[in-house]
Amino acid sequence: MAKAKSLASTITAHSSNPFEEMIRRFDVAAKILNLEADIYDVMKYPAKNIEVNLPIMMDNGLIKVFNGYRVIHSTALGPSKGGIRYSMDVNEDEVKALAAWMTWKCAIADIPYGGAKGGIKCDPSKMSVGEIERLTRAYTKAMSDIFGVDKDIPAPDMNTGPREMAWIVDEFSNLKGGFTPGIVTGKPLHLGGSLGRVEATGRGVNTSAICAMNKMKLNPKKSTLAVQGFGNVGSISARFLVEQGLKLVAISDYTGAYYNPKGIDLAKALTYRNSNKGNLEGFKGGSKLTNDDLLCLKVDVLAPCALENQITKDNAANVQAKLIVEGANGPTTSAADDILNKKGVIVVPDILANGGGVTVSYFEWVQNRTGYYYSEEEINKRANNWMTKAFENVWSVAQKHKTSLRIAAYVYAMNKVATAIKSRGSY
Ligand code: GLU
Repeated sequence: MAKAKSLASTITAHSSNPFEEMIRRFDVAAKILNLEADIYDVMKYPAKNIEVNLPIMMDNGLIKVFNGYRVIHSTALGPSKGGIRYSMDVNEDEVKALAAWMTWKCAIADIPYGGAKGGIKCDPSKMSVGEIERLTRAYTKAMSDIFGVDKDIPAPDMNTGPREMAWIVDEFSNLKGGFTPGIVTGKPLHLGGSLGRVEATGRGVNTSAICAMNKMKLNPKKSTLAVQGFGNVGSISARFLVEQGLKLVAISDYTGAYYNPKGIDLAKALTYRNSNKGNLEGFKGGSKLTNDDLLCLKVDVLAPCALENQITKDNAANVQAKLIVEGANGPTTSAADDILNKKGVIVVPDILANGGGVTVSYFEWVQNRTGYYYSEEEINKRANNWMTKAFENVWSVAQKHKTSLRIAAYVYAMNKVATAIKSRGSY
């Protein structure tokens, strides 16, 4: 393994346009489905695209304007659903792609939602808690006629979590009058959040990885694992996969990758991260590599759980994993798909693999609406069954059309959304 060159190990979003990446797969699936040209147009473009500029008073007494988006891709199958991310990489095309992926993800998970996504271009690591709160409240106010329990339901995404969701509930409830916990999912438990929601995405990544390993006859107890990204999705996916017996040999975050062929001590890595401002810089449990090196390690299972566009035409040929399970949204480009398919690498695509999060968001929303709350055991059991069913559905489509799991996932989802659009009719 080559030694780390520099801190080019940082995970950065590469330049491919995520919306175009989505469309390339959409086009392949549209051909397989023989999709009518008019329905193709309805599904391709977002239904609504809102951009706001939010003036926020910063702690230094100066006003700063933040650019925010909410894109509703589709409401054909139900109210639109999808997270809100805070990142300097946020831009219209990224949010458009992420919104479309939510439409496909919800259709695959078989939950009665359309797809949406929101984002604010900001760097929360350089903002005070008060500044983040004011920004979150201003965004909620600007979107208060877009959000709605039966219209559009946000959730956490990159750099947002229960804390931000609580501010959204509060702001929305104050504006509209009346406590409305079902306006958002991923809330703290004491505000109507669901047991199991925090771990849900990682748990689902684990379920889909194990489903794929069963099909591939890979024994988890004899398999090695590398995980890119050590936030909520990466660290929790790693935890569940290690519990299944996989040997975790590499982890990473924006400070670089850490590799130990004898196995990374996950508990130590988590303790280290939690006491080190949330990052792995200086972690001694493995030798330092770049994030690119991690993606090309000789492992059985690779779980990219960080950003878009990580496995590209430039590194796909060097990927040695037998199975890739996408915890992140959009980590593999379409050009990389072709290379991986030719190499026989099985990829469980994002819109299937990371659907556990929105599945438990749906359970949270149902609990808020009915006022009856399930036990954690019940939530986990249901989520596991739903993820397994989704995997089997996509697997059968892939067998039927002799395509990759990614294209099969698009075919499955687009067929369902197209059927809903046709039966609902139009003007
Ligand atoms: N942000 C998560 C995702 O990309 C969860 C969305 C939700 O729960 O609505 O799937």
